[in-house]
Order: sequence, then structure tokens, then C-alpha cells
Amino acid sequence: MGNKSLTLIGLGPMGQAMVNTYLDNGYQVTVWNRTAAKAEPLVARGAVLAPTVEEALAANELVVLSLTDYDAVYAVLEPAAGSLSGKVIANLTSDTPEKAREAAAWAAKHGAKHLTGGVQVPPPLIGKPGSSTYYSGPKDVFDAHEEALKVLTEADHRGEDAGLAAMYYQAQMTIFWTSMLSFYQALALGQANGVTAQDLLPYAKMQFAMMPHFLDLYAQHVDTASYPGDVDRLAMGAASIDHVTHTHADAGVNTTLLDAVSAIFHAGMDKGFAENSFSSLIEILKKQAG
Ligand code: NDP
Repeated sequence: MGNKSLTLIGLGPMGQAMVNTYLDNGYQVTVWNRTAAKAEPLVARGAVLAPTVEEALAANELVVLSLTDYDAVYAVLEPAAGSLSGKVIANLTSDTPEKAREAAAWAAKHGAKHLTGGVQVPPPLIGKPGSSTYYSGPKDVFDAHEEALKVLTEADHRGEDAGLAAMYYQAQMTIFWTSMLSFYQALALGQANGVTAQDLLPYAKMQFAMMPHFLDLYAQHVDTASYPGDVDRLAMGAASIDHVTHTHADAGVNTTLLDAVSAIFHAGMDKGFAENSFSSLIEILKKQAG
């Protein structure tokens, strides 16, 4: 798209970072936000504040959304749905894959095309090298607007299904939140033993640095549904997680997280996977047939 002009709706920390990045790159940006005052510093830099959502939509074909969730998307767009025809909505609002699919169908009903986006970086990294966003939706629409989208971050189109970008985003957040909790759990154990977070930090980093090796190996196990157990029997893992849990309990640390992990290991043992690799736990976690 040679036309360096777009509309951006939603001026939370993320939307503001996006508008600033577009302005830095010479784009003409029309903005709208429920709380209009948040537009002031952007208007001072050259953005145009549309007085209504309808006028914001009318200003450009490409409309980027950066709202809290999809309830906010409908709160903003539903009253202005009559102005959606012919628009391309790049919806960089996080929510579930199902909500993204519903929104794509809703947009189509009003004559608009919908690209789902899952931004992988916090606001300060918008416009910086190495940042990336998952996209999904019609490839031709993505291709037509890729140049503008790539001003924000690298753009990784994952497929046509509107839900896919949200699924990749949520999969990544699954890893992020649970890994971070494991870090806090280890720090709580350290604290209970008079060891500071700074003391444990290099060892935690070392552990995370070793993880890619395990990810490569176990992704293969999962895709082939083969859990050989040659070096990592589930029975060994279950004994180990019991030691971990008892260590925390003895130190008086909250074991809610570890009890949940332990329950999954023991469900695998109950299923008869003791001699399999601990990657067999995917059989406990995955969607069950029927
Ligand atoms: P915020 O929740 O801070 O702000 C989002 C915007 O949503 C604001 O402009 C707010 O308007 C608007 N909004 C919320 N509810 C309504 C409503 N009912 N009607 C109208 N407008 C509404 O989010 P962020 O800016 O931090 O993030 C935006 C999106 O980006 C989110 O989906 C988030 O998950 C995603 N994201 C954020 C990251 C981050 O680190 N911040 C990282 C990666 C993704 P108002 O100003 O009037 O309150």
C-alpha cells in the first residue's frame, strides 16, 4: 500500500506507542479514543483526532484497533457499524480465538475485512527491531497492508483462520505465565532459605537457557506420539516432582502450583506411563476423544 495513511482506535499504552511509531514513520494517522484527552500529545505531534467513531472509520480504509478486549471492540464499533463497509480492520486487541472468529464473521456481515493480530511485545518495543505480531485472516488482505503493519513490528501471518493469531498468542502466553510462576516459586523457596532473588538469578537463567534442547526433543515426541522413556522415565519424574513439592512444603512455601503439577504427573502414572518418557504427559493434557 503506497498510501501512508490509517486510522487507529484505542489509545491505551499500546495504541499510543503505535500512533507514535506511525508518526515517526511519516504516516498520516487519524485517531479516536473513548477518553479523548489521551489523544492530546499525539495531536500535538500531527495526529488528527476524529470527533466520532464514524468519522474515524470514514477517514481511511485501514483501521487498526488496540482495545482492552473484544467487548470493548463491540462497544466502540457496534454503534458505528453502518460505517464499516469497505474497511479493513486490523484488530490488534488480545482475546480468545473464538472471539476473533466471531468478530471476523461480524465484520464480514457489515462489509468489512478482519485481520486478527496478536502483538508479542510490550509498548516500548513497538517499532523496534526483533519485535513481532501474529496475524491471521485473508492472506490477500494481509499482503495488501503488510507494509503498513510492519511499521509496528515484524508481521507473521499464521493462516487464514481468524482464530489462529489469537491461538498462537495465547499459546505463547501460556508458556510465559506458567514459566514466570515457576520462577516465582523457586524464588519463594530461596527466600524461605535466606537466599535472595539475585542469588538465584544466574541459576534460573541457566535453567531457561537449557530449555530449547528439551523443547526440540519433546516437540518431536509429541508430533510422533512416541514417548520412548530411554533417558527420562515418567516414574523418575514423578519421584522428582514429589521431592520438589516436599522441599517447598518443608520450607513452609505455598505448594498450590506444585500440587497441580504433581497431580498431572500422578495422573500419567495412573494411566500406566511409568516407563514412558515424561512427554507422555501430553496424553493427560490433550483434548480427549469423544
Ligand atoms: P488498555 O486496556 O490499557 O487500553 C486499551 C484501550 O481500550 C483504551 O483506549 C481504552 O479506552 C479502550 N477501552 C477499553 N474498554 C472500552 C470500552 N468499553 N469502550 C471504549 N473503549 C474502551 O490496553 P493496552 O493499551 O495496554 O493494550 C491494548 C491491547 O494490546 C490489549 O488487547 C492488550 O492485551 C494488547 N497487548 C498489550 C500489551 C502491553 O504490554 N500493554 C502487550 C501485548 C499485547 P480509555 O482510554 O477510554 O480507557
